Amino acid sequence: MKDIQKFIAGFRNFRNEFFCREDAPFGLLCKGQNPTALVIACSDSRTDPSFIMQCEPGDIFVIRNVANIVPPYECDTGFHGVSSAIEYAVKVLKVNDIIVLGHSLCGGIDALMRDDAVRHTEFLNKWLTVMAPVREEVMEHFGEVNKKSCTACEMAGTLRSVQNLMTFPWIKKRMDEGNLFLHGWYFEMESGQLLSYMPTTKTFEPLTVSGVLSRKEDAAE
Ligand SMILES: [Zn+2]
Repeated sequence: MKDIQKFIAGFRNFRNEFFCREDAPFGLLCKGQNPTALVIACSDSRTDPSFIMQCEPGDIFVIRNVANIVPPYECDTGFHGVSSAIEYAVKVLKVNDIIVLGHSLCGGIDALMRDDAVRHTEFLNKWLTVMAPVREEVMEHFGEVNKKSCTACEMAGTLRSVQNLMTFPWIKKRMDEGNLFLHGWYFEMESGQLLSYMPTTKTFEPLTVSGVLSRKEDAAE
């Protein structure tokens, strides 16, 4: 209840200090949104992409879920919440960039790595199996669950999600046309750094403008 009061006070502050400001963007935004980027981030309370990247309302279209996972393209009768939001961003909003934003100390990846931590959950266990092959590869290399292997899994999972984006035919088409770019980013919470996957070195490095996955072959691990 204490936090609810904090949220209400926060909204009051937003209204007074931002919404009612003369140059506030909502007048224009009421006519429609035109974000140029889709960000797919983790639901983790510490990794709000709008806050980290200091965005204004209308700047980014955001999907958040446990462990910032993009499942591969599947055209079946399931309820595909993530895929439908991706479809809207790409086909309707026509974003130019898609950023998958992974992060350190990810509880979702930790649960995936520890394997049994979420075994009895109703939905979470199934959701995380999208990244089961990534876990297998990481465990094959590291042999045990520790900070190093979890970090590797967070980064490899982010990259796998970028690769899964390319399994969507209309994403691949726009990439081939040169008007859609994919990015694998990683927020390192301890240092406050934003890293980007660099296709040339195949590593995550402090962000530069060249950290762009523009072709399918660039995303190969
Ligand atoms: Zn997370």
